[in-house]
Amino acid sequence: MWISRNLALVRERIESAARHAARNPSDITLMAVSKTFSVQSIRGAYEAGQRVFGENRVQEFAGKAPAVRALAGAEFHLIGHLQSNKSARATELFDSVDSVDSLRLAERLDDGALRLGKVLPVLIEINVGGEEQKSGLASASSELEQLFQAAPRLTNIHFRGLMTVPPYSDDPEQSRPYFRMLRELRDNMAKRHLPCVELGVLSMGMSHDYEVAIGEGSTCVRIGTAIFGQRDYQ
Ligand SMILES: *Cc1c(COP(=O)(O)O)cnc(C)c1O
Repeated sequence: MWISRNLALVRERIESAARHAARNPSDITLMAVSKTFSVQSIRGAYEAGQRVFGENRVQEFAGKAPAVRALAGAEFHLIGHLQSNKSARATELFDSVDSVDSLRLAERLDDGALRLGKVLPVLIEINVGGEEQKSGLASASSELEQLFQAAPRLTNIHFRGLMTVPPYSDDPEQSRPYFRMLRELRDNMAKRHLPCVELGVLSMGMSHDYEVAIGEGSTCVRIGTAIFGQRDYQ
C-alpha cells in the first residue's frame, strides 16, 4: 500500500538526516499529520506501524475519533490553533495539545484536564517568524514569560517543549535560521530551570523541510503530504 511505502521512505530519510547530524534516530518522533484525510488513511498508517498522529481541527477530529480510538497505542495531538471555547472538547479528544499560544488557553486546558482528572501534555507554539497571520507567541514576549511563571499552578497540564511553523519557502534552507532560533530559545529557557517546565521536545519540520529541522535539533517532525499525499484543502 502506498501509505506504508511513503512511511518507509520518510523513516529512511529521518534516519539518514539523523546520522548526518550525529544524532540518534530514536530521539526523533515521526508524527503523521492526518488532517483532511480519512479514518481509512489513519488505519493504513497505523497498520504500517505509525503511532503518533497530528490533527489541526477539533471539529474534524471529533468526527474521526470514534473510529480511531480503539487503535491501541495510537496517540493524537492537536497541532492547529485552538479557540479557548473549544478547549474542554480538545482536552477530552486529544492526548496532547501541541499548539498552546496564550496564557488564557493554558488556563482553560488546565481547568478542562482537572475536570477530567487527567494531566494533559502540551507544547508552547512560538511564532518564530513574527508573522501576523500565524498563531504562536513571540519568543521574547511577556506573555511567554507569564506562561512559564504560571506553570507551577497549572498542575493539570504538563509543559513538555516548544513547537513552531516557520515562514513558508520552497527552499528548505530558508527554514534553518528559524529552526535554530527555536532551539536557542529552548536552550536558554532550559538553563533557567523553571519549575514545572520541561523543554525536551522541539516540534519542528514538515514535509518539505524536516531534514533541515533534524539537523537543527528537532525531536518531532510533523509530516502530512509526504505520507498521505496532497491535501484538497488546508
Ligand atoms: C498541515 C501541518 C503540517 C504538515 O504539513 P505537510 O507540509 O503536509 O507535511 C505540520 N504542522 C502543522 C502545524 C500543520 O498544520
